[in-house]
Amino acid sequence: MVDKAIVNGQVYQDGHWVKTNVYISGEKIYAITKDHYLAKEVIDATGLLVLPGLIDPHVHFDLDLGYIRSVDDFERGSMIAALGGVTTIIDFLEPVDNEKDLEKAYRKRLFEAEDSYIDFKFHACIKNPVCDLEVFVRKMSELGMNTLKCFTTYSDSGRMTSDETIIELLKLSEKYKFLLLVHAEDDSLIRLDPELMFRDLPVSRPKAAEINKAVQLIGYVAKYGGYLYMVHVSSGETIERLKEIHVELLNRKFFIESCPQYFLFDSSRLLQDDGYLYTTAPPLRTKTEQMYLRSNIDWVHVIGTDHCAFTSDQKAHEYLYEIPLGVGSIEHSFGVMHQMFGDKVIDKMSKNIALLHRIESQKGRLKVGLDADIILYKLEQSVIDSDHSNSDYSIYSGTQRSGIVMSTLIRGEFVVRDRNIERTFGRLVKGDGF
Ligand SMILES: [Zn+2]
Repeated sequence: MVDKAIVNGQVYQDGHWVKTNVYISGEKIYAITKDHYLAKEVIDATGLLVLPGLIDPHVHFDLDLGYIRSVDDFERGSMIAALGGVTTIIDFLEPVDNEKDLEKAYRKRLFEAEDSYIDFKFHACIKNPVCDLEVFVRKMSELGMNTLKCFTTYSDSGRMTSDETIIELLKLSEKYKFLLLVHAEDDSLIRLDPELMFRDLPVSRPKAAEINKAVQLIGYVAKYGGYLYMVHVSSGETIERLKEIHVELLNRKFFIESCPQYFLFDSSRLLQDDGYLYTTAPPLRTKTEQMYLRSNIDWVHVIGTDHCAFTSDQKAHEYLYEIPLGVGSIEHSFGVMHQMFGDKVIDKMSKNIALLHRIESQKGRLKVGLDADIILYKLEQSVIDSDHSNSDYSIYSGTQRSGIVMSTLIRGEFVVRDRNIERTFGRLVKGDGF
């Protein structure tokens, strides 16, 4: 007898909907078949879509900015993730300069993530190291991480990685098969004048900063090889330019991630009286850029949220330098993206990420032998009217969504059952081959 049977649902399998049953034994998917097996618990999914648990590769839970912390810690953040159908999140370690600090940062984050309801993984994060990079990369592998994030900006806070180091890391990424995540903005085009107000954010961080750096980086990949993943692409023109110059590398060696906020909102929000609530880095772009981005959805390989929630009190300042940049979205990302683009977002929020992060033997699809990370989704267009973040506002309030996540299972256990939260404990996911 198997543990659970999800019967009569429309099951997402390799891009198709099949009316079939999913059987769970322990933590794994035991069978997907129209045949009937005896189960201890039968879940009737009549009228529901059965989807793989989503993976969010870009979250900032409990982010310490020194003077302020993001308000969703691992406990709350992972709970609202589950309400949004996300069963695995990938967060970031603190940026470091050498392999000793990397190990410390890893232990610290592992401790902070203990309360997570769902499974989690980490990206290592590097500043501008003076150490032997190969030793650093080996330490990263030893700790089970196969992604490394760097910044081409934030020189003011010492987080910027030099081009020489990026080139070196690209070469190493080829040798050690890891993914180099880059926050790509040309630092020389960023303006941080203290008199800039929140509505000047697009002046402070112009689209040219993103485009220039992206063009330069794809040039490096063409010349030196390696695997680069550009996080939170905000501007449609960036993708247009990348296609013009190196279409052959796109989503083969140079991967594009974007986030719901850049598809949903444009920079006119920043002109509102409460425009500070919409401040992110990179910023929201013009309506035209937003339309470009939407028309390039097929070139966006991965959708991550960059979930980084703050309260309206924390955000309510006139001057940019006083405002922590970031918004929350993990609870709503699937509903709003599915509303806009339909089923094509499913793989971008599950399978594609599992493959890139080499966790495809565990996560990302409904397949026999994989973890039973499953969501039951009720198609029913509605407007978002509630939010469970520790923040007191959501920029998604009033936004149209395609439906509601009714239930979420993490490794065979309900974490959300008919919209009610149950206490589960996530665990660290290691990349395949570690
Ligand atoms: Zn981020």
